[in-house]
Amino acid sequence: MKIKSIKNCKNLKNKKVLLRVDFNVPIKSGKVADDYRIQKSLPTIKYLLKNGVIVIIVSHLGRPDGRDKKLSLKPVVKYLENNLKRKVEFVPDFEKIKKLKSKLVMLENIRFYKDEKKDENNFSKKLASIADIFVLDGFGVAHRSSGSVAGVAKFLPSYAGLLLEEEINGLSKIISKPKKPFVVILGGAKMETKIPVLKNVLPKADYVLPGGGIINICLLAEGYKIGNSLADKNLKNIALKYCKSKKFIMPVDVVVGDMEGKKYRLVKLEKKPHQVCKKGEAILDIGPETTNLYAKYIKKAKTLVLNGAMGYFEQHPYEHGTYAIAGLFSARSKGIAYGVSGGGETVEVLRKLKIIDDVDLVSTGGGAMLEFLSGNKLPGLEALK
Ligand code: ADP
Ligand code: MG
Repeated sequence: MKIKSIKNCKNLKNKKVLLRVDFNVPIKSGKVADDYRIQKSLPTIKYLLKNGVIVIIVSHLGRPDGRDKKLSLKPVVKYLENNLKRKVEFVPDFEKIKKLKSKLVMLENIRFYKDEKKDENNFSKKLASIADIFVLDGFGVAHRSSGSVAGVAKFLPSYAGLLLEEEINGLSKIISKPKKPFVVILGGAKMETKIPVLKNVLPKADYVLPGGGIINICLLAEGYKIGNSLADKNLKNIALKYCKSKKFIMPVDVVVGDMEGKKYRLVKLEKKPHQVCKKGEAILDIGPETTNLYAKYIKKAKTLVLNGAMGYFEQHPYEHGTYAIAGLFSARSKGIAYGVSGGGETVEVLRKLKIIDDVDLVSTGGGAMLEFLSGNKLPGLEALK
C-alpha cells in the first residue's frame, strides 16, 4: 500500500500542521501511567518541529460523553513538556482559537465534541480550518472514519507521519510478499475481530496456530464439549470452515479449570470429539504438548504474526502457554524471521517479559492491525493515498 509520507512534503516551514496521534494512554492520579504510544509518535513531532512547523496535536482519550475533566489531555501536555523540554500550549476549545502563541500546541480531548465521532455539522471542516496540512500518525485510529481522522483529510493536503508510515510498510510487507514459511499465531478473546482475519490471512499463510477463544470455537464447532469456555457461538459455522484447513494446526492438549486458578488439570485432545470440560470448568490455556507442537512451526518460520493471548494469562497458572509462545515468537523474530505483533494484551505480555525489543514491528494499533490484515480498507489510510 502506497501512502504519502510527510518526508516527501516540501516547504513545511511556518506551516500549521494538524497532527492526529493516538495518545489514548492510561492516566493515573493525573499522570501518564504508560507512555508507550506517546513515545512512538515523538519522532514525528520532533521531525515537524525541526522543519519549522507549528504543530497542533490532536488526540482522543477514552470514551467521554461530552466534556469530562477525568478524561482531559492536560496530563499528556505536562508529559510532553517534561519530555521535550519546551512549552506546550494547551487549547481547551479549538473553535475559540484566535492566535497561537507557541510552536507546539495540543488540543483538548477531541471526543469532547460530540460531532467528532460521526463527523457531523461540518465538524472536520471547522477543525481543518485551523491548519494548513494534516498529518496522521496514530495507526491505532486509522480504522476510524471520525472527523479528526478521515474527515479533515478531505479539506487539507494530507500525509502519513513517521510512525504510521513505519507500521504500514511493515504490515504491507506481510500481506504482499511474506517470506515463507509464514506462520500466524492468533489467539485472544475478541473473536468477532479475529475470525475475519483468517479469511484474508489463511490463503497467504502456511500455518495458523490458534489460541484462546479461537481454539474454543473450533472445538465447539467440531462437537467437543467445552463447558464454560469463552466462545461466541454465532461464529461456529465460519470457524468450522477454517479449522478444517490443513494449514490450521489444532492443539493436542489444553489446560482446563476454574477462573480463580485453584482447580485445574490437563486434558489431552483426541481426534474424535469428546467431553473436554466437566461442570464449572473452562479451557483456559494451551497445554505443554501444544506448545511443543507450535514451537516446531515457529522455529521454521521466516515471517511471523502474533496477536492475542493463548489463554487467560492474567491468572496463574494459565499464563504458561501465552508466555512460552511469546518467548518463542520474539526469539525467532530477533533471529531469522520478520516478526510483527500488536494488540493491547499481546503488547502488554511482550513488555512484561521484556522481549518487546526483539520484535521487528510492534503495531500500536490492535483493532487497526487486524482490519489491515483482514484486507479491509481503513478510512484514515484511504484519505492518504
Ligand atoms: P489483544 O488485545 O492482544 O488483541 P484480545 O483483547 O483479543 O487480545 O484478548 C486478550 C485476552 O484474551 C486476555 O485478557 C486473555 O485473558 C483472554 N483470553 C485468552 N484466552 C482465553 C481463554 N481461553 N479464556 C478466557 N480468556 C482468554
Ligand atoms: Mg485486547
